[in-house]
Amino acid sequence: MRPLVATVDLAALRHNHALAKGCAPGARAFAVVKANAYGHGVREVVTALHDDADGFAVACLEEAAEVRALHPSARILLLEGCFEPLEYQVAAHLGLDVAVQGGEQAEALLAAELERPLNLWLKLDSGMHRLGFSAPDLRDWHARLQGARQVAELNLMSHFACADEQGHPLTAQQLESFLSLADLPFAGRSLANSAAILSLPQAHLDWLRPGIMLYGASPFAGRDATALGLQPAMSLTAQLIAIREVPAGETVGYGAAWRAGRPARIGTVSCGYADGYPRNAPAGTPLAIRGRRVPLAGRVSMDMLTVDLSELPEARPGDPVELWGAGLPVDEVARACGTIGYELLTRVTARVPRRYRF
Ligand SMILES: *Cc1c(COP(=O)(O)O)cnc(C)c1O
Repeated sequence: MRPLVATVDLAALRHNHALAKGCAPGARAFAVVKANAYGHGVREVVTALHDDADGFAVACLEEAAEVRALHPSARILLLEGCFEPLEYQVAAHLGLDVAVQGGEQAEALLAAELERPLNLWLKLDSGMHRLGFSAPDLRDWHARLQGARQVAELNLMSHFACADEQGHPLTAQQLESFLSLADLPFAGRSLANSAAILSLPQAHLDWLRPGIMLYGASPFAGRDATALGLQPAMSLTAQLIAIREVPAGETVGYGAAWRAGRPARIGTVSCGYADGYPRNAPAGTPLAIRGRRVPLAGRVSMDMLTVDLSELPEARPGDPVELWGAGLPVDEVARACGTIGYELLTRVTARVPRRYRF
């Protein structure tokens, strides 16, 4: 069996969920499980949170149907709303909460014949300028939708662009824009992603939307997850499958892109870019063996990568290699690769088996 596995610690996940909810006593939370629960496996994540979660949030109807099959009663929020008019019927059938992010979606809803009315989340474009109504348009749509036969609850949501950067001026502007609609009657209001849950109590309101923090990675560039009290949920573990001595001046890997400046001990590791490890990871990107950091050396191949073991003479073939996880924060690896933990976690490919700890 190929020695590469993503081990998912569901107790860590539950701990992180409880930590998110503890930040805002009284608020409810949509656990964000889009993109296969950020790569962790939506079935197991929804099952692990089954009794604790108030609801789940997903990016599309296909994901929502999967969650509904696992949880008959939880609220499930479709974050981007329906992509075509017919989806409203499926959403009603599944009993979803549906975002409405623009005039076309709202018109399609008012034209739909539904088996039951939907809980709607009017999305305000408070400054991210990706989805949502302007504040005046949102007021108009609130008036038009209130009391419509397709509508059960009317709720309000928006999304932060920069909540991960402490004190960014756009965050205060977005909060102000959101609160400027406080005079409208909404059943519930939701604004906080992980970064805002951890750093912006004014944004907590009725419903939290924790994503990355559930998986134990940090939403902030400069603050590590453990310092925030989070526990990493995924450990990606491979093995040293070969070790060789490479004379000074020789090169390692495709493109001969890494050259040994001194006699080097090179280890070959059973993980490559077809597993989701970034091919653009530069030499020096950390991996962990025997509790120590070792640097990536040479280009990442499809199924393997190479590390410089010169500073770790005790390393042996068969040693486990942590790409990231409990002993090496995914955020540290992401930083070295010029990306974020979110991307590394979500791009672990289907060929990597997930194993679960309960
Ligand atoms: C993905 C997403 C979230 C979760 O964000 P995190 O930064 O992972 O906590 C919340 N709200 C919306 C609208 C999203 O798309």
